[in-house]
Amino acid sequence: MSERVAIFDTTLRDGEQSPGCSMNLEEKLRMARQLDALGVDVLEAGFPVASDDDFAAVREVAKICRRPVIAALCRTTPQDIERSWEALADAAHPRIHTFIATSDIHLQYKLQKTREEVLEMARSGVRLAKSFTNDVEFSAEDATRSDLDYLCQVIEAVIEEGATVVNIPDTVGYTIPSEYTHIIETLRQRVRNIDQAVISVHCHNDLGLAVANSLAAIAAGARQIECTINGIGERAGNASLEELVMALRVRRDLMPFESGIVTEELYRSSQTLSNITGVLVQPNKAVVGKNAFAHEAGIHQHGVLRNRLTYEIMTPESVGVKTNSIVLGKHSGRHALGKKYEEMGYTLGRPELDKAYKLFTKLADQKKEIFEEDLVAILQDGFAQIPERYKLRALEAKAGTAINASATVTILDTTNDQESTGTGTGDGPVNAVIEAIDRMTDLTGTLLDFNVRSITRGTDAVGEVFVHVEFGGTSYTGKAASTDIIDASARAYLNAVNKACYARERSRSAA
Ligand SMILES: [Zn+2]
Repeated sequence: MSERVAIFDTTLRDGEQSPGCSMNLEEKLRMARQLDALGVDVLEAGFPVASDDDFAAVREVAKICRRPVIAALCRTTPQDIERSWEALADAAHPRIHTFIATSDIHLQYKLQKTREEVLEMARSGVRLAKSFTNDVEFSAEDATRSDLDYLCQVIEAVIEEGATVVNIPDTVGYTIPSEYTHIIETLRQRVRNIDQAVISVHCHNDLGLAVANSLAAIAAGARQIECTINGIGERAGNASLEELVMALRVRRDLMPFESGIVTEELYRSSQTLSNITGVLVQPNKAVVGKNAFAHEAGIHQHGVLRNRLTYEIMTPESVGVKTNSIVLGKHSGRHALGKKYEEMGYTLGRPELDKAYKLFTKLADQKKEIFEEDLVAILQDGFAQIPERYKLRALEAKAGTAINASATVTILDTTNDQESTGTGTGDGPVNAVIEAIDRMTDLTGTLLDFNVRSITRGTDAVGEVFVHVEFGGTSYTGKAASTDIIDASARAYLNAVNKACYARERSRSAA
């Protein structure tokens, strides 16, 4: 039997630290459910001492995800560790993940501590964590730039204190596969009690080597990999989960390891994250990019038609990419829609199905063919998890080469059930719509980013609009899908407005 490699997902912690990828609580819970379905072994849900939002994320994820280990990150100080343990109170399988840097450059400039002091902090942190739970992971931050003798000494000490997982992160994305192999092998040879802990790796992609380094570490004896969906994370990101898992699966002949990942959920996980954050996956991204299974050259297409293995090392189906097919039409009933969603892996309750069906019939009036992607868009657009303070009621926009763009927008304020109508002008219809909306809400937004993409093909395709908007110094994402781009823009902007209103409400009620 082949050995198991544990997949430690840090999309909600390291990933969430990447620019433009911040998520609110509801979005984190949605992502966590998908990661659970994907089969990750460990789900790192946040850094509880960093903020109340991180604390809440760990606590709520621990409540809904009962199968995986839930990890909470903390430094080695008592208050950090205690706060993490509080956040993990309801977890079925809690893990305290404590870290301190071990490289001289971090010791000197960041911590301003001696090696002896840091060794003692590592020891006492693990000791305290161990008094709360048996499952304790220790990370030697910036391990790959640490003195190897000292690293061995620290790792031996924390295992003595009871660490069950020892992580050797390439925090700054500096190492290369042969050097990493040497580090892991040295630890296995020199650390007397290394057999009592699992070696873990955590690689950053600053030189594009995160996945290669992680695979080298597994070959050298590591048995846990820390990674993220779509490779998001600090700076250039982390090792990409989907690439690692598929490399292990496709080249099992050379790397005989199992992971618990349901690979058919990879594409959906990637899309879910992209949908939540509004950060699109680059088209040529391995495994989950739009072009990952597209064959352009005629000679390739010819080969693939005869036998897919001529140019494909894995099938689109194995990662959950379905070839576009028409699934439903205007006359499909509620029952057929429910069944289709079930096939796609979504089980909808009666009220959810009613809501989805209403949106479906509206969409079926606008376009002839409904694809699976449309159905996903219906769920993601129609089931916004935050309360909708403002709803779009009506919209009219005028634009052209010879006139200034103008818009008239009617919105409903659900707090008092009042409709109001406002007008705006601008360089283009989207600006005009935003100006009109700003006049009716008591918020003024600055549009930081605006993205449109088509979800399906054809001139009646559904377009999806993502916006990043700043309100009073905090940025929010908004998104909406429609066959009409101006309509989608207005609703995406309102989605961001509603998130800002919701955040304001919550901070008021917390105060
Ligand atoms: Zn990291």
